[in-house]
Parts: sequence; C-alpha cells; structure tokens
Amino acid sequence: MRLILGDQLDELHEWFKTPDKNVTYLMMEIRQETDYVKHHIQKVAAFFTAMRAFSARLGELGHKVIYIHLDDRQNLHTIAANLQKLLATKKFARVEYLLPDEYRLDVQLKDLDEKLQVPVAAVDTEHFMTERQELKDFFSGKKRYLMESFYRSMRKRYDILMEKDKPFGGQWNYDQKNRQAYDGRVPIPKPLFFENDVTPICQTLQKLKVQTFGEIDPANLIWPTTRAQSLALLKSFVDDFLPAFGTYQDAMTLENWYLFHSRLSFAMNTKMLRPLEVIQAALKAWEQKKSKLKIQQIEGFVRQILGWREYMRGIYWALMPDLAAMNYFDHQAALPDFYWTGETRMNCLHAAVGQSLKHAYAHHIQRLMITGNFALLAGVHPDAVDEWYLGIYIDAIQWVELPNTRAMSQYADGGRIATKPYISSAKYIHSMSDYCKTCAYHWNKRHGDMACPFNSLYWDFFTRHRKRLGKNARVGMMYRVWDRMDSGEKKQVLNQAADYLRDLNRL
Ligand SMILES: Cc1cc2nc3c(=O)[nH]c(=O)nc-3n(C[C@H](O)[C@H](O)[C@H](O)COP(=O)(O)OP(=O)(O)OC[C@H]3O[C@@H](n4cnc5c(N)ncnc54)[C@H](O)[C@@H]3O)c2cc1C
Ligand code: SF4
Repeated sequence: MRLILGDQLDELHEWFKTPDKNVTYLMMEIRQETDYVKHHIQKVAAFFTAMRAFSARLGELGHKVIYIHLDDRQNLHTIAANLQKLLATKKFARVEYLLPDEYRLDVQLKDLDEKLQVPVAAVDTEHFMTERQELKDFFSGKKRYLMESFYRSMRKRYDILMEKDKPFGGQWNYDQKNRQAYDGRVPIPKPLFFENDVTPICQTLQKLKVQTFGEIDPANLIWPTTRAQSLALLKSFVDDFLPAFGTYQDAMTLENWYLFHSRLSFAMNTKMLRPLEVIQAALKAWEQKKSKLKIQQIEGFVRQILGWREYMRGIYWALMPDLAAMNYFDHQAALPDFYWTGETRMNCLHAAVGQSLKHAYAHHIQRLMITGNFALLAGVHPDAVDEWYLGIYIDAIQWVELPNTRAMSQYADGGRIATKPYISSAKYIHSMSDYCKTCAYHWNKRHGDMACPFNSLYWDFFTRHRKRLGKNARVGMMYRVWDRMDSGEKKQVLNQAADYLRDLNRL
C-alpha cells in the first residue's frame, strides 16, 4: 500500500514508472485537511480536483488506486484511521509513504509505525533540488541564513547561468533591474485561464458544511489541475510573460492582478511540475532567443525557484517546530476585519485583499509589502497573520507559507533570514504602484486629516521597537532621520499612529 498525499501529484516519480499488481495506491480527501485552517474555497476545490484527476491518470497508466472521497460513508477523515481500517479489511504486507513537506504531517506519518501492524517506510518525493536538512548544514554555526550565498552555491552546483565558475553576464543578481513600476508600455499578455468545472466538489463541501471563504465560479476554476494544464501554463508563461517578468517583478497595479507573474506556484507546490523542469523551460527559451530575452528577466525568474523556493524549504526544516511559535516583537493585536472582506478605504489593502478573495492569489510584493507590511506595522500577532496566509492563497502549504510569513514578512524569527524588517511607508507603495492615486488617504501626509496610515505607523513601529532594532546597522539611517525630526512633528506622528491603532477596523 502506497500513500499519496494531496500535494504529491508527480506522475514522473519513480513509483509510477511500472504498474505492479501487488501495489495499491491510496489517496484520500479528509476533514483533517479541510479543517486544520479555514481555506479559500478555490484552494480546496483545486486540491481535490487535482487529486481526482491524478487518481484517474494513475488508473489510465495501469495502476491500482483506492480513492476515498470526502463524502464516502466509510471515510474516517484522518490518515491513520483510514489506513488502519483498510489494513484490517484487506491484506497488505507493507505501507510506504512519500516524505511529506509539512512538519505536522511528518509527525503524524512517523507515528504510523506504532499504529499499524505492518512495516512502514518513507520514500523521497524526488521533487526538491536540495535535501531537507541541507540548508541547516550549509549555514551551520552562522547566526544569519543569507539567501544570496545559498543561491550562488545552487547556481554552481546545478551549473545554471554560469560561464565556467563565473556567473553569466558577470553578475550573480540583477535585483536592481527588477524594480520598475508598471508604466503600461509593455502590454500584459492574454493569460491562460482554465475552465475546470468543480461544481460537484463545491456541492459536497456545502453539504458537509466545510468552512471556507473567498469567491469561486464553480464552472470555471482558472487554476491548472492536471500535469497537462500545468505544462500548458508553463509554456504560456515562458512564451509570453517571461520577457518582461524581471523588469516588473515588484510592480503593482489596479489594472491587473497577475502582471507578468507565472501563476505556477500551485502547479509546483502540488508537484504536478518539478522545479528543475520549470527552470529548464525558462533557460531553453532564453538560449533560443537571447537577443529578445535579457539576462535580468531570466535570472530574476531562476532566482525565485532555484534560490528562494529551495531556501524557504530549507529554512522551514532548519527552524521547525520552533519557527511556528516565534514572535520576536511580542506582537499581540488582532488581524483587522478587512483582511477577510477587503472593506477598507486604504486602496492598496482593498486591492490586494480584494483580489486575494476573488482569485486566491496575490503576487509576492503584494503579500510582502502591502498585506504583510501593514500587519507588521500594526503589530498583529504572527499566529493570526499565518492563519490568514495559510488559508487564503491557492499555493499555501505550511512549508512555504510559514517561513515567508512569519520569518520574512513578520520578522518574528528576530532576523535569521532578513537583515531588517520588510516595512515601508507610503513612499514605497506610491513609487511601485498606482494604488495611491485613487486612495482616500494622502500618501504624502504623516498626520492630519486622511493622512496615510502607513506613514505614522511606520515611525511608530521604529520608536516602539528601538530596543530591538536600534543597534541594527541596516535601519540606523531611519533612526537618525527620526531623531532629527522636530519634536512637535514627532508628537503629531505618534498621536496619529495611536489614533489609528486604537481601532484598525475603521481605517
Ligand atoms: C507573506 C508571504 C507569504 C507567502 N506564502 C506563500 C505560500 O504559501 N506558497 C507559496 O508558494 N509562496 C508563498 N509566498 C512566495 C510568493 O509570494 C509566491 O510563491 C508567488 O507569489 C506565487 O506566485 P507566482 O507563481 O505567480 O510566482 P512568480 O512571481 O511567477 O515566481 C515564480 C515562482 O518562484 C517561486 N517563489 C517566488 N518567491 C518565492 C518565495 N519567497 N518563496 C518560495 N517560492 C517563491 C514560486 O514557486 C513561484 O511560483 C509568500 C510570500 C510572502 C511574502
Ligand atoms: S495612500 Fe496609503 S493607504 Fe492609500 S494606497 Fe497609498 S499607501 Fe495605501
């Protein structure tokens, strides 16, 4: 009996090379997974649709599969209980599972050895480009785990964008060329959206009263749910979007919710696509049309997957389980209600939350510099921030959500991965987006009528956390600016912040 989890849909895995009549695969839709956090409806529908399609695909390839549906009467809704029941009724000599990527599941599956009467073994998923513990070893003895040094080692190891032992083009990183605001000069290509009908799954969720949130058009789920669709999305990205990906990577606009981003995270996180094949597809396009595809586009994309994605996974395994409880600033505030409704006069939050509720998606800078930035400035408890990110995004699985949210965005790890907190005043948001142009708040006012909340909260954050951040050289400049500010001005800024913090829900 071989267990396949919902994010292990990799038909290229060695397990599936040759059908074997002595092997039965087991997949299950269980309440344990629908209920550990409140998920966006599109996320649950996309996972179950992809799992059903994968089970059908295994059948086509000649494999034996037992698939337990969410509403099967016999479903006991936990992995262990379903396995125990099956082993009691059918004869299996051995159970194997693919190594899970989440700590919670790792603990549960390790426990199967005790719970089942047959030998249990774990097998590698063959998905990642590094081993679970590798990053911890790489940074052994270091206080900070800097992504850039890890990324460079990965470039060398996989011989990607290298000229002998030097980076192609002479530079490892073209981050400075990845920061252009969207000016409309490059038209955003027509996106490939799928029209997956997930009506039966939505009906089941409703019947069983599974708590979800967010919007869905059940007849037209746009996310890829098969490998064929994932490959088509990859092709569409490489052909049409990659040429401007790097340039506008950090841009945000009301005009469009995905810009030049790939929207491949769900396909990769469910393992319908392998990270190396995604990188290779992009590299192939670059090889073929070097004249059109500049190095900053391709390097920017490769860095996200070969660098950030592998790095975040390594951080997760290096810092779990402690990471899930870290709260460096001792933040205690509740998450404002508008994270669940999008109803706020702050245009940037209205846009980022609104599109997240509508599409279960926001791109990296929206997650980091709008929703994450505001939650950090407002002192929201990292548990509440995590719960929101883990629920709302189509690609949210704890191994990648938690290090991005708690460590990178909320600095709750005290700076192991980020050299300074990712916060900004309205100036940054104004420079990278068109949100401020039509906002009810004034982006360039620190206090007074309709002053942008990001501005006063920004300075308030620095003053509140001087003890923890005052010695950090990366933010020393901000403290110098603050110290030079007129005392009357400072008072007004802090009063404004206090007023906003008193009731975040009214913003
Ligand atoms: C607070 C916060 C929470 C996040 N939560 C998640 C999450 O739950 N799941 C998730 O997959 N990503 C998460 N990210 C990372 C990133 O925002 C998403 O991977 C990206 O927005 C997905 O959209 P895309 O596929 O269009 O990405 P693109 O911009 O097209 O990038 C290509 C790929 O690079 C990878 N990537 C880029 N940045 C990161 C990163 N920081 N960490 C890991 N992989 C990265 C993704 O696989 C992505 O598909 C989070 C980021 C922040 C700041
Ligand atoms: S003015 Fe402030 S609240 Fe409004 S969009 Fe700009 S940054 Fe956001």
